[in-house]
Amino acid sequence: MRKTIEFAGEKNLPLIGQGTWYMGEKAANRQQEVVALQAGLDCGLSLIDTAEMYAEGGAEKVVGEALKGRRHSAFLVSKVYPWNAGDVDAIEACERSLSRLKTDYLDLYLLHWRGNIPLEETIRAMGSLQQQGKIRHWGVSNFDTEDMLELWSEPGGQHCATNQVLYHLASRGIEYELLPECQQRQLPIMAYCPLAQAGRLRNTLFSEPVLLQIAQQKSISVAQLLLAWVIRKEGVIAIPKASSVAHVQENAAALDVQLSENELFLINQAFPPPQHKVPLDVV
Ligand code: NDP
Repeated sequence: MRKTIEFAGEKNLPLIGQGTWYMGEKAANRQQEVVALQAGLDCGLSLIDTAEMYAEGGAEKVVGEALKGRRHSAFLVSKVYPWNAGDVDAIEACERSLSRLKTDYLDLYLLHWRGNIPLEETIRAMGSLQQQGKIRHWGVSNFDTEDMLELWSEPGGQHCATNQVLYHLASRGIEYELLPECQQRQLPIMAYCPLAQAGRLRNTLFSEPVLLQIAQQKSISVAQLLLAWVIRKEGVIAIPKASSVAHVQENAAALDVQLSENELFLINQAFPPPQHKVPLDVV
């Protein structure tokens, strides 16, 4: 059965979405990227994650093209640079994103990482954007536990809808403290780099014997195993980036993969969960 979550006002959002980092970099790849995102929407991967940073707006333009005529079937997430997250600048940055995305609202707008602008000011800016109908919800990214505690202590900070952080099988640090804290407050986490494009053991997971063996026994790919593993935890959404239809379809099928207790045990043996606080991994 396809795994879904109630997220930022959306009742049955599939737990796997689509990332867009490195899209919009090369004109020659643009059409393929548009087609891949549309194939993802066709498979039900309705959450699309982008940012003003990616290709300096180029990725948002690709997403805008992919969403032509089907904006309402997508759950659209973009992110603001920390230095644009102030009272006036955030409004202007959001308007620029909306223009590139060819839409008049975002479902979710995230502070990409913490910068020098006081959280209080960013919360106020996010509130203004909500009042203006430009964003439905807001959240943060790359916030470790202390940042989240500070955010929650600010007036309005409890309206934060998510924290998007690096999380994959070889980068499990959040399981010790950040993830339980967020789960306790029913704050969903968006896991970026779920296929280990960055983070610990980058690029080695796909040749890991235990993963190859489990994947083979289940007749799935290692990528599907990695995604199924990320979304096994309550309140965790994975946003793999894929620029081919084949990869997108493979990733969507991971929504149906169930991992047994024994498989999880074997995975834990090879990639033990953290036994102490580990600073948040970031790209
Ligand atoms: P991922 O871990 O999603 O890995 C992406 C890589 O995996 C690409 O090279 C892609 O190749 C490949 N891939 C995708 N599907 C498959 C598959 N089924 N089999 C084999 N390989 C596959 O890394 P990202 O860094 O892209 O992270 C995902 C998303 O998270 C980003 O795109 C972005 O939206 C977000 N992000 C957010 C950050 C933040 O600071 N908030 C930081 C980093 C990412 P191909 O393109 O050829 O399909």
